[in-house]
Amino acid sequence: MVRGDLCKCCGAPLKGAGKKRYSSTVIAYEGLPLCPSCLMLYPPAILKAMEDYPFMYAIGLRDGTVLFIEGVTGIHGEWITVRLWHGIPEHAKQLTKNFPPCPRGVNVRLSDIVWAADAPYDS
Ligand SMILES: [Zn+2]
Repeated sequence: MVRGDLCKCCGAPLKGAGKKRYSSTVIAYEGLPLCPSCLMLYPPAILKAMEDYPFMYAIGLRDGTVLFIEGVTGIHGEWITVRLWHGIPEHAKQLTKNFPPCPRGVNVRLSDIVWAADAPYDS
C-alpha cells in the first residue's frame, strides 16, 4: 500500500485514493486524502488549513481566545497542531489575549474549538 492510500487524518485505508471526487460541499478538499469519518469530524476550515497554507485562518477557543493561524501541521486524534500567523492586524490583537508567539507550533484540543474560519479578513 502506498502512502496516498491512507487518510491523512486517521490513517485509515482509502478506496480510490487520489482519484476520489468529493461532493460539492467539500470540493475545497479535493485531492486531500480523507476518509468519510474525518470529513464529518473536523471543521472544513481546519481540513483546508491542512493542505492550503500558509494563509490566514482563525479558530475561536471556548474561553474566547482567538488564534490566527497559518496552517494545521498535524491532526492527532483529539488534538491538532497549528502554526500561528504572524503579522496579525492591529485591531485584531486584543482577540488573541496576549497568546505567546509559540514559534514551534501549538497543540490545540479539538473539543475546545468552538468555531473556525478560512480567511477571516478576506485575504
Ligand atoms: Zn480519517
